[in-house]
Amino acid sequence: MKRNSIQHHPPRTRKRFSAPHDPIQPHTLKIRSLEKKISEQGAILSSIREGIIVVDKKGMVTLANQTAGVLLRTAPDELLKKSFSEAMHLYSKTNTGEEYIHHDLIGRVVEKTDSITIRFQDNFYARPKYGNDFPVAITLSPLLENQEASGALVVFRDISEEKEIDRIKSEFVSLAAHQLRTPIAGINWYTELLLSGGAGAPSGEQKKYLQQIYSASRRMTDIIRFLLNISRLELGSIMVKPEPTIIRQAIRSILAELDVQIKSKDLSCDESYEQEDAAIETDMKLFQIVMQNILSNAVKYTPQKGTIAIRASLRRHENPGPFGNKEDYLQISVSDSGYGIPQEDQQKIFTKLFRARNVERLPGVDGTGLGLYLTKSIVDALEGKIWFSSQEGKGTTFTIALPLAIKNAGKGTKQLE
Ligand code: ADP
Repeated sequence: MKRNSIQHHPPRTRKRFSAPHDPIQPHTLKIRSLEKKISEQGAILSSIREGIIVVDKKGMVTLANQTAGVLLRTAPDELLKKSFSEAMHLYSKTNTGEEYIHHDLIGRVVEKTDSITIRFQDNFYARPKYGNDFPVAITLSPLLENQEASGALVVFRDISEEKEIDRIKSEFVSLAAHQLRTPIAGINWYTELLLSGGAGAPSGEQKKYLQQIYSASRRMTDIIRFLLNISRLELGSIMVKPEPTIIRQAIRSILAELDVQIKSKDLSCDESYEQEDAAIETDMKLFQIVMQNILSNAVKYTPQKGTIAIRASLRRHENPGPFGNKEDYLQISVSDSGYGIPQEDQQKIFTKLFRARNVERLPGVDGTGLGLYLTKSIVDALEGKIWFSSQEGKGTTFTIALPLAIKNAGKGTKQLE
């Protein structure tokens, strides 16, 4: 274009929308602004990197964003014609490696108007129509209109990468714990030798220090065992080998191991078995790890001259028991007259590394906060339930219910110790 060919136009006068002769009417403007809003919202929805699905009260999908389509390998429009369970097949993996399909999550959200959040640790998976299953973190919330749920909003994402990082971390912990075992076994062994006078009788003061070394290295052995067990648990599912297990015998052998601590604290320990020879089909080794954790906590968190009571009974239920049906089961409770668990800490007691504030700084009472996390995972693998009641300053009762026979030993590969 030639420079001198620039043409000059008369200056434009700005139109004022409110002028009476304005051809654009207010309702047209409203529509335009609504259209703009809708297109903005559409852009927001399709830019979100999390899958979003909206369902109505009947569980039919009414909206799905682009990420939902990508994650479920289905065009978002296709998802619209489906029920939620068709659009998103969700299942969890139990500790024994079995699949448990979740059919009615939407129903639960809509009926109870409560959100359900399934996090990273919950072993939850989505199975798309095509391609591989993926681990999923998901939140289902009710869409509330005048306090009533008109449907549900589902937000989800693929957490494969986080899971992989976690797996690498667990592998590292497992390897490190394994490597630490041999040198610590050496320290234990030589300290025992010195204490027993195998290299000449130690003096009174030397003996005192050696005993401290010995108790610290025993504690280290315990921590390493916990770390190994937890990393094994997180790397795969637990191997469960059911066998006839005489409850009284299994508990007695744990009490024998704790005898020194029980005597040194002058605790009275009362056992009551409804049937002396009651036996169930369970994994004896895992059962003993559970009892070891519960009983050693009762001993540890009960001060001098306190009491511990163990009760075991076979329950025959007319009404639904802890398993929600009328199944017979074994119930074992361990009560102590110890420090108790403060009310505000009770809901976190089964989480990893948690210790209640009332025992954290008690002199001579050490812990890792790993025992009950492990215990709960094992009880789940044994198809049982665990719960507790406690009052600070009065005492605690831990109760476990186990089926008389494990129904599904699963395909777990990880052995605990
Ligand atoms: P820890 O190694 O700290 O004992 P656990 O996972 O076994 O770890 O227990 C977690 C926490 O639960 C403990 O630190 C303690 O605060 C509380 N706890 C467990 N058992 C008892 C009990 N019998 N009495 C009082 N507190 C208990």
